Amino acid sequence: MADLVIRNATVIDGTGSAGFKADVAIDGDRITTVGDVAENGDREIDAAGRVLAPGFVDVHTHDDGALLRHPGMEFKLAQGCTSLVIGNCGFSAAPAIPGQEGPSELIGVEPTWTDYASFSAAVTNVGPAVNAMGLIGHNTIRALVMGLEKRPPTDAELDQMREHVGQSMEQGACGFSTGLIYEPGRYCETDEVIALAAESAKRGGIYATHMRNEGDRLLEAVDEAIHIGRSAGLPVQISHHKSAGRQNWGKIGQSLAKVDEARAAGDDVTLDVYPYTAGSGPMAQYFDVDNVNPDLAEVIRFASCPAFREYEGRMAVDVAAEQGIPVTQLIRDVILAPLGDKTVCIQFIIDEADVEENLRHPQMMVGSDGIPNLNGNPHPRLFGTFPKVLGYYVRDRNILGLEEAVRRMTSLSANRFGLVDRGRVAEGLFADLVLFDPATIIDTATYDDPKQEPDGIDLVVVNGVVALENGTHARSADGTAAGRMLAYRA
Ligand SMILES: [Zn+2]
Repeated sequence: MADLVIRNATVIDGTGSAGFKADVAIDGDRITTVGDVAENGDREIDAAGRVLAPGFVDVHTHDDGALLRHPGMEFKLAQGCTSLVIGNCGFSAAPAIPGQEGPSELIGVEPTWTDYASFSAAVTNVGPAVNAMGLIGHNTIRALVMGLEKRPPTDAELDQMREHVGQSMEQGACGFSTGLIYEPGRYCETDEVIALAAESAKRGGIYATHMRNEGDRLLEAVDEAIHIGRSAGLPVQISHHKSAGRQNWGKIGQSLAKVDEARAAGDDVTLDVYPYTAGSGPMAQYFDVDNVNPDLAEVIRFASCPAFREYEGRMAVDVAAEQGIPVTQLIRDVILAPLGDKTVCIQFIIDEADVEENLRHPQMMVGSDGIPNLNGNPHPRLFGTFPKVLGYYVRDRNILGLEEAVRRMTSLSANRFGLVDRGRVAEGLFADLVLFDPATIIDTATYDDPKQEPDGIDLVVVNGVVALENGTHARSADGTAAGRMLAYRA
């Protein structure tokens, strides 16, 4: 007898093919039948009128620390996500020195581990609700080896960084990530990235990048990313593709044309995007306190601000007006205040038409880039990304088809990041599944009220275990859940 049979579903299998009516049987952690299931299941679920799809893969997360702080991962599970890629933008939790904080607030947890294997063991130990696959971050290893030095590494330092990448890959990581606008990654030359990406390439890994520039020099940054992939000989993932700043709106077409041209020449380049017109990140990283960019200051909203909790959820311009000071002054005051460097902001810098153009591109995956800091008012993408694509961009705006959107949340992503036997609904694969109503699925998280789980998702199954059903998150009596740390292509 099967453990679970889901009957009468419209199966959208993740390949991009048209949905079809079928039953799906699950035994243990695998899908055993897709078609007519004659046997009864220990549990039977009638899925008539709803879509059964592979669990979504959030390819762009900063959930390394969240897996430990919030192992229930409710904000991801409720969106239908069953697997995450962590370690993006050059910031990974591993490697680390126990007790020593890494280069970013994004991790948010003090390390007890040293390398990727011991970090993975720590995550496994808490029994997270979702699966995770890790990238090794350039900012993390550079800070570990050479602090925040504004110079190229010595040969010995470069060798040490190489060893970190190589060792992490051997311990199951899927590749190497950079965040070249952030400290200390921004101090590197292209050659340093090529040398480190080559360590990933040696083991069949990938290179994922928050590029050096996403605004005035976007196109040059795309050239650099493609050059790095070509020189090091590995696939490139361009993270959260955008054209930031009003003066750059509309450039997305030229940027995508560069990607298409590279692909036509044989380079393996893919991308991801979040479906919002605002970005979010550590505020101190975006401003030079001695020369605060006034255009950027105008479009800043405080997400979490430990120095001034009363600013959370408010636009900087409104706070500044209330105080009768220029907004540039306010930004400076906040960053320089005690704990000011821990401020996370939301910046309204993206054009809606560019978001839609991104979503039309066949190599564009979906990644939330959510920052899992549940204090204050986080960017709503943390809770709303996947249902927003399916409800707003697919159903309401008709920017892409449902099957195609599911493909770009599942099989395309699983293949790129080496999640073996995941990303499709097919016999023999892992039972990572989401059941949703295509007529009602929608995000409900807003900038004013961001910590809201979406509507229209009835069931999420992770490794054969029901993890979310009708709004209730299920965990075992011992507090653990069925998520796993995954190893690249293994
Ligand atoms: Zn980033």
